[in-house]
Amino acid sequence: MAQIRSYAAPSPQAPLEPFMIDRRDPGPHDVVIEIAYCGICHSDLHQVRDEWGRSHYPMVPGHEIVGQVASTGSEVRRWRTGEWVGVGCFVDSCRHCEACRTHEEQFCKEGMTLTYNGFERDQVTPTFGGYSTRIVVDENYVLRIPDGLPHERVAPLLCAGITTYSPLKRYGAGSGRRVAVMGLGGLGHMAVKLAKAMGAEVTVMSHSSGKRAGAMKLGADHFVDSSDADTLKKESSTYDLILDTVSAAHDYNAALDLLARDGTLVLIGVPPPAPLAAGSLIMKRRHLTGSLIGGILETQEMLDFCAEHGVAADVEVIPMEAVNEAYLRMDRGEVHYRFVIDLATLKGGVA
Ligand code: NAP
Ligand code: ZN
Ligand code: ZN
Repeated sequence: MAQIRSYAAPSPQAPLEPFMIDRRDPGPHDVVIEIAYCGICHSDLHQVRDEWGRSHYPMVPGHEIVGQVASTGSEVRRWRTGEWVGVGCFVDSCRHCEACRTHEEQFCKEGMTLTYNGFERDQVTPTFGGYSTRIVVDENYVLRIPDGLPHERVAPLLCAGITTYSPLKRYGAGSGRRVAVMGLGGLGHMAVKLAKAMGAEVTVMSHSSGKRAGAMKLGADHFVDSSDADTLKKESSTYDLILDTVSAAHDYNAALDLLARDGTLVLIGVPPPAPLAAGSLIMKRRHLTGSLIGGILETQEMLDFCAEHGVAADVEVIPMEAVNEAYLRMDRGEVHYRFVIDLATLKGGVA
C-alpha cells in the first residue's frame, strides 16, 4: 500500500478537503499512473451532493484523468514508464459477459467498476478517483494519449469527449445531418466540436443567451435561445439528432418537438425525472434514447479521432484548493467550458 494525497468530500454538504488514501501495490497487470490533470465533470458534483442517491463517503471524485506511467507490473507489456496515458469513468469490469466481450464494458452485466464512488470487484474496497496524485489501474482499462494535443485539454475527453462522440457516431452526425446540442457546458461544447469535425450542421440550444458568441466561436452554425418559447416554436420538427446534455430538470416534450420525422433525441444529462407525453414521440415517429459514456475501444478511437482533427476541450486550469469554488461556478454555468485540476498543486511531501 502507498499513501497518496487527495481531496475528498466527507459528506454531501461539506466542502472537499485534503485527505490521504491508500493505493494498492501494483499487481502483475497493473499500471501506476502519476496524475498530471483531472477534469471536473458535472457528474462529480451530482455524486458529491448525493443527487443520484448512491454516494458513499469519503468520496474522492475525478474520472477525466491524464498522467504519465510511473511504473508497471511484471507482466505489463503494453505500457512503458513515462508514457502519457488516460483513465476514464471505469477501471474494471467482469471481462466475460456479452457486453465486455463486445467492447461495451460500460454495460457490463456485473456492473463496471466505477473509477470513484464504486467498489473494486471484491465489492468491499472503495474506489477513489483522479483528484489525487496517483492511481493504480489494470492495464486493460488504460487509454493511450496521442501526441500533439495539450494534456490539460485532453483530460476532459476521457468523459465529456467519449460521452458525446459515442452517440454522435452511433446515430449519425455526418454531412447533411442537422444536429442540435442542448446545454453548452463541458459535454455540450465537446459535442459541438465533435459534430462539426464529423461534418454535421450544428445548432446550440442554450438557456443562457450570453453564450451565443462563445457557441459560434466553437464552430456552431446556429444558436437558439431555448428559454424563449416563441423562438423555440420556430425550430419545431427541424433536427435529425439532438444530444441533450442539460444537467437540471427540464421539459423533454419540448426537446422532442424539435425533432424532424424519425429524428432521435439522446438523453445524456442525468437530471431529476421529468414527465413524458406519448404524443411527443407518436406524432412524428420520433426516437428517444440514452447513452452512457463508451467502451475502452471506442474511447481510444475517440482520442485518435481528436488528435487527427485537432479537437480538444476548452479549459480553465485550476489548483486543487480551488475545487470548491469551481463547483459553485460550474453550477452557475460560469465555466468555458471545463475546469481541469493541475495535480502538481497537490504534490510535495508524500507520494
Ligand atoms: P455542465 O458543464 O455543468 O453543463 C450543463 C449545462 O446544462 C449547462 O452549461 C447549461 O447549459 C445547462 N443547464 C444547467 N442548468 C440548467 C437549467 N436550470 N435549465 C436549463 N439548462 C440548464 O455539465 P456537464 O459536465 O456537461 O454534464 C452534463 C450532464 O451530463 C450532467 O447531468 C452529467 O451528470 C451528465 N453526464 C452524463 C454522462 C453519460 O454517460 N450519460 C457522462 C457524463 C456526464 P446552457 O447554459 O447552455 O443552457
Ligand atoms: Zn463525467
Ligand atoms: Zn462484463
